[in-house]
This record gives sequence, C-alpha cells and structure tokens, in this order.
Amino acid sequence: MKTVDILVIGAGPAGMTAGLYAARSGREVAMVEKALPGGQMGTAHWIENYPGFPDGIGGAELAMQMQQQAEKAGVRVVYQAVQSLARQKEGFLVTPGGKDEPFLARTVILALGGQPRPLGVEGEDRLRGRGVSYCAACDGAFFRGKKTVVVGGGETAVADALFLAGLCTRVTLVHRRDTLRCTPVMAERVKSEEKIAMCWDSTVTALHEENGKLCGVTVQNRKTGETQILPADGLFIAVGHTPDTALCRGLCALDEGGYILTDERMHTDVPGLFAAGDCRKKNLRQISTAVGDGAIAAEEAAAFLLEEMGQGGTQRK
Ligand code: NAP
Repeated sequence: MKTVDILVIGAGPAGMTAGLYAARSGREVAMVEKALPGGQMGTAHWIENYPGFPDGIGGAELAMQMQQQAEKAGVRVVYQAVQSLARQKEGFLVTPGGKDEPFLARTVILALGGQPRPLGVEGEDRLRGRGVSYCAACDGAFFRGKKTVVVGGGETAVADALFLAGLCTRVTLVHRRDTLRCTPVMAERVKSEEKIAMCWDSTVTALHEENGKLCGVTVQNRKTGETQILPADGLFIAVGHTPDTALCRGLCALDEGGYILTDERMHTDVPGLFAAGDCRKKNLRQISTAVGDGAIAAEEAAAFLLEEMGQGGTQRK
C-alpha cells in the first residue's frame, strides 16, 4: 500500500490544478484518472473563454498542457478507474482497478467531473456510435458533407452546432424552448450561421434507422403538437451532464441531483475530503471556475494536513 498526503481523483481541469498546487505545497501527491486527462475539456473542439488564449485553444491541447505542468511539478498519474473509496482512521483507502496497489491517502480531492446526459429516446443506446453521439469534437469528422441534428440550447449544443456547420451540409439545432441558455455572443453567432437551421420549442421524440444506422429524427413542436421528420445522418445530444459521483455516494453529502455539497473552501462534510470542479454543487461550471476550485481544494488539503494532523505529512524528497 502506498501512502500519500493528497490523492486527487480525476484529471480534468479541477483535478490537474489541484494536483499542481498540491505538489507545489511540497506534499506527496498522486492522481488517479480513469480515462484520458482533460475530462470534458479534452473533448471540446475549441475554447474561447479561458483566459490567456486570445485566439482560443483546442480542448485537447489545453488538457495536454495542464497535464505536462502537473507532471512537471511532481504529480504521478495512475490511469485506472477507482474501484472504491473508504474512510479509515488514518485517512482514506483508495483502491484503483487493475494491478495498481491501493493508496492510503491522508486527504482526498474529488474532481470527478460528469457524463453527458442521455436524451432518453427509444433507440438512443442502440444507435450510439451509429449516428448518435455526445461529442461533436470527437465524432464530427465522420459527418463531413452530411446532415446532422444537435439537441440542446446550452453552451455545448451551440458550440457543437457551430463546429458541425464547418463540416456538414446542414445542421439543425433543436431546442425545447425559444430562448437559448448559452452566452449572448454564442447565441448571435449560431443564429447568423447560414448552414444552421433553428428548430425552436421542439423535442426529438423518435429516432429512425436504416441498415442499423441513424437516418432521421422525429421532432415535435411542444406548443402546436406538430411533428416533422428531419433526415439526419448524425444526432449530437448536448442536453447537459450528470455528475460522476457514484464513488462517493454514502460517504459524503450530495444534493438531489448527485452533486457533492461543499462549502466555499471546497470542504465536504467529511474531514479531509474535498471536492472541486463540475462534480460539486455550484452555479457556474466552466474551465476557469474548475481551476479555481482545484487551487482552493489543494490549499485547503495542505492546510488540513498541517492543522488537523500536525506536521506528520509525507514531505516529498
Ligand atoms: P446546460 O447548460 O445544462 O444546457 C443543457 C441544455 O439542454 C439546455 O438548453 C436545456 O434546456 C437542454 N435540455 C436539458 N434536458 C433536455 C431534454 N431532456 N431534452 C431536450 N433538451 C434538454 O449544459 P451544457 O451546455 O453542456 O453546459 C454545461 C456547463 O458547462 C454550463 O455551465 C456551461 O456554461 C459550461 N460549458 C462551458 C463551455 C466553455 O466554457 N466554453 C463550453 C461548454 C459548456 P433548457 O435551456 O430549457 O433548460
């Protein structure tokens, strides 16, 4: 068993910033990540509102740079899904999958991020990867020269529609209301893009397939009840995310949506357990707010080690 002072679970922007700050505090730090570094940020085609990049930056590029910076500071990343997280007298027992040894972590920072929310329409699961996608940056290129539909009215849906407009012959943005939730600058951009058709007050009620692949969607207007079939090779679902907090259910307090409850210093209701980024209950989920959370969580974890446990942390050699 490996003992560390601060263990960060999740290598999105919140986790990588937490790792960077924790390592720079001189503590023994480890990070466990179940997939690629970057989380949702890593799948964003282009990011224009993260300060320091006036012309924008690709999500994967930003993820790689954050990873390099954290590793340079001394963070060791274990690429495994955490199987269990249990409270112990001395801290937390964190068990990764595979052959990696468990960690005894004096403090844990949960930077668990979230998963795209499914639409819940019949056939969605079956057609995933056969026309149905949750990531335009990952799958958009498969639909070059084709027709696509994007569902949602938030920042992700609008950014996806704009990205796909550069590849597809036609993009229809289906939103359940008549006002977009995204920032006004993005709303204006999507409305003035010639290749994008807006389908307001509408929801996708059925998927159509041909030879095992998506070929169209039925859309119903919620005000008039009228339905129409939109021919589509691709359906990009961007209706929000759910927090990936199954690991800490029963361990710390969550709200009704599964988001971790913290105070403004990122403390959960369990001493030594902190949360940062999209997995915690908060108003604004952005890369910039995630990195802020990560920095605070790391500073608080280091202060916790000092105050609650004395100087007994494992100073890095
Ligand atoms: P979001 O802001 O929660 O928006 C979800 C959208 O999907 C809303 O327009 C919602 O409609 C719609 N929706 C939800 N459930 C639906 C359903 N069952 N059927 C049809 N429509 C449904 O999600 P998001 O766009 O993924 O953004 C999540 C967070 O990440 C936000 O805080 C956002 O600002 C942030 N983000 C930031 C960036 C960036 O910084 N560049 C990029 C992407 C996302 P209503 O509007 O009617 O509720």
